[in-house]
Amino acid sequence: MKDLLPPGVGIQGERGIAFVIAGPSGAGKSSVISALLSRDPKLSFSVSATTRPRRPDEVHGRDYYFVSEDEFDRLIAEGALLEWTVYQGHRYGTPKTEVLARLEKGLDVVLNVEVRGARAIRAANLGFPVVLVFLVPPSWEELVARVRRRGTESEEALAERLRIAREELQHIPEFDYLVVNDSLEEAVARVEAIIKAERMKIVRCA
Ligand code: 5GP
Repeated sequence: MKDLLPPGVGIQGERGIAFVIAGPSGAGKSSVISALLSRDPKLSFSVSATTRPRRPDEVHGRDYYFVSEDEFDRLIAEGALLEWTVYQGHRYGTPKTEVLARLEKGLDVVLNVEVRGARAIRAANLGFPVVLVFLVPPSWEELVARVRRRGTESEEALAERLRIAREELQHIPEFDYLVVNDSLEEAVARVEAIIKAERMKIVRCA
């Protein structure tokens, strides 16, 4: 196909693309991302570092790198994080080298971050395309129900998650795509459609 293209033109999918999936608690980011990863070998997950305690179903190195406060301080000092944030009293950050190495190899990377993180990843000007996807539950009522159903936290922590969720929704205009997660299957198909289209995007190279 390349021999058909005029000089200075390429297809975005020839290089790695960073697909950032953000959205409020209860949007179903983790479920959508696991489904995407299991269906597309060209996608790889950016495992974040966090100081939050591990939940029983989570695996170190797969879901997060669970690190101490000191280790997190060291990551910041070394400039090892592309971005980091504080969420409900715990720190979360994206390891820089891991993401860049995969993009350089031509692999697409999926990131699960809160809204400020998504903005920071775009602002970091990685030299690779960054696609910002905002995932939402079908309604506020459903968001509240999903956060409650998770049930791993105190009433206070739940209220804080809901307050943060309200605030996060205000940032939808900064994103490229809005995906409603009413059914997991359909939400995954919608994100897959975005990924397919972004890979076919025509880019002008210098
Ligand atoms: P949880 O504790 O529920 O796994 O995650 C809490 C929030 O932190 C979620 O909104 C998740 O997307 C976000 N998060 C996870 N890793 C990162 C990261 O590396 N950077 C940023 N900015 N947010 C993250």
